[in-house]
Amino acid sequence: MQEQTKTPFVTLDQLQNITKQYPTPFHLYDEKGIRQTARDLKAAFAWNPGFKEYFAVKATPTPVILKLLREEGCGVDCSSLTELILSDKCSFEGHEIMFSSNETPAEDYRLAAKLGAVINLDDFTHIDFLKETIGYIPETISCRFNPGGVFRLGESNEGFQVMDNPGDSKYGFTREQLFEGFKKLKAMGAKHFGIHAFLASNTLSNDYYPALAGILFELAAELERETGCDIAFINLSGGVGIPYRPGQAKNDIFAIGEGVHREFERVLVPAGMGDVAIFTELGRYMLGPNGCLVTKVLHFKHTYKEYVGLDACAANLMRPAMYGAYHHITVMGKEDRPCDHVYDVVGGLCENNDKFAIDRELPEIEIGDLLVIHDSGAHGFSMGYNYNGKLRSAELLLREDGSVKLIRRAETPEDYFATMVFEP
Ligand SMILES: *Cc1c(COP(=O)(O)O)cnc(C)c1O
Repeated sequence: MQEQTKTPFVTLDQLQNITKQYPTPFHLYDEKGIRQTARDLKAAFAWNPGFKEYFAVKATPTPVILKLLREEGCGVDCSSLTELILSDKCSFEGHEIMFSSNETPAEDYRLAAKLGAVINLDDFTHIDFLKETIGYIPETISCRFNPGGVFRLGESNEGFQVMDNPGDSKYGFTREQLFEGFKKLKAMGAKHFGIHAFLASNTLSNDYYPALAGILFELAAELERETGCDIAFINLSGGVGIPYRPGQAKNDIFAIGEGVHREFERVLVPAGMGDVAIFTELGRYMLGPNGCLVTKVLHFKHTYKEYVGLDACAANLMRPAMYGAYHHITVMGKEDRPCDHVYDVVGGLCENNDKFAIDRELPEIEIGDLLVIHDSGAHGFSMGYNYNGKLRSAELLLREDGSVKLIRRAETPEDYFATMVFEP
């Protein structure tokens, strides 16, 4: 269903209560929404007994959120040493951890191996690097595939529904390297293999995963035939998107699950590979809409344009500044007023790209208004930084019973100074 507005998962009343205890800005997450998203995903892939979602930690590296996802049966996808440590601290064990990194330092591989994580190699040369680093090749190993070229889907008059450029991306093995790599890994002791690929980001299409699955399933059947390697799992990685703009249609995860099922029946079952497990590494889809940035209007400025100045800035949410990404804004309590004003909604960084919205039609805003910036639950807080000495905000969880829990305190100046050396 399409709608022209977006409804926050929190009300003005609730926010007024929350801000009595926790000052703005902060990121707020919706426990109910997170659990429901995880349950729907699991149900959509229930036809595959080995299915598992490995939540992409980089999207929201927050312990309470990771633990909540673990309760819903999810594993984690890590890309660095600290994400591995975080996952270990959150009680993820062994094959509940996927390690998909690139340009990997030796110590990261050492910890991944020690934790018993599934290692997903990004490059052919990492086969020998891993062997040299940890002394052996794990029995279960995965390789990331990059088919090159341009990936296109769903052509219409408005262009392609999905278009991305794997040939330009730094990740993964070529097809030839993958065949050679599997043979080499098998000779070095690997017994169970996985294939991973990430071809397009933030796709708003129920066809992306099925199309990717079709490519990977055919590749898997060929790989098994030609190399004799046992393919244990196929990892569709991330890339299922969310509608950041009102009016955009949501992905239907059940249609996506069914689409992958169809490809599974078409390719893998006839190849005698009906026992292959399907993995996903969704980040944005799991958390994006289940988090928002709550911020207050500090100032107004009228020069050549009309500016609304917030207590949040791009250091709290950098997607608009970095990619020109759209994030919907709700002026709390003014949902029913006409959007008859045009504003640039800006933060206080000394960077002119610190704009959450440019020429956005909104209701008349007053100083002190609370704004909800939608869909900040993934790649929001986590991309935060300290430019201009700005401090990272708190993260709060709106529990299913309506109460609020602080799940990360805001940074203080002491945190900012903690790494500095003052002695000349
Ligand atoms: C970023 C990333 C993901 C998650 O991507 P989303 O777009 O958030 O779904 C999954 N796997 C890998 C390897 C990634 O780098």
